[in-house]
Amino acid sequence: MDIFILSHIHLDHSADINTMIESAKVGSKEKNKEIAIGAPEDAFHGSSKVLLDFILKKTEKQFIFKEDSSYIWKDIKIDVLRKHTHHGAITYGLVFNEKIAYHPCAKFEPDIVKHYPKNIDLLILNTTFYRKRENIDHLCKDDVIEILNIVKPKRAIITHFALDMLEAGPENVAKEIEEKTYIQTMAAFDGAKILL
Ligand SMILES: [Zn+2]
Ligand SMILES: [Zn+2]
Repeated sequence: MDIFILSHIHLDHSADINTMIESAKVGSKEKNKEIAIGAPEDAFHGSSKVLLDFILKKTEKQFIFKEDSSYIWKDIKIDVLRKHTHHGAITYGLVFNEKIAYHPCAKFEPDIVKHYPKNIDLLILNTTFYRKRENIDHLCKDDVIEILNIVKPKRAIITHFALDMLEAGPENVAKEIEEKTYIQTMAAFDGAKILL
């Protein structure tokens, strides 16, 4: 692994980040392996920081994400889009090599979604709920349908499922989204690999 991207500080995303950086560095068979980490500012600094100083010292490059900025590490370009709203944590839409976009855990905000590039190869969406829940900053199935109709990627992947999604069956939900948007949609599963 050459670069770690942390979407935001919440523990369901960040709990293993220090261990993973250390194992990528120390466990690598490559001598002098260079590792980079990219994350929003609150992951690096302040009372909510989740990246430990002695672990950061093992990385060659730290990208502190800012809105509407781009970063390059080796052959990977990361475009950081607008800041989303997600229960006080800083998080951004991300685009990798101008082809793959990532919508983090966040509330659906059309004004922010319109900044995602159009016609990209793949959009990954953290689709936590099947049904809309008021006052919770996460996407539901109907939000994803609206987002896909705005961004129009070639393909979509839904992931990050809560219980009502698991009960509905993520593959069924992906099919429902696909039928309503005509965009090929897949439900993520552990170990999934996709060809682009
Ligand atoms: Zn979160
Ligand atoms: Zn999350």
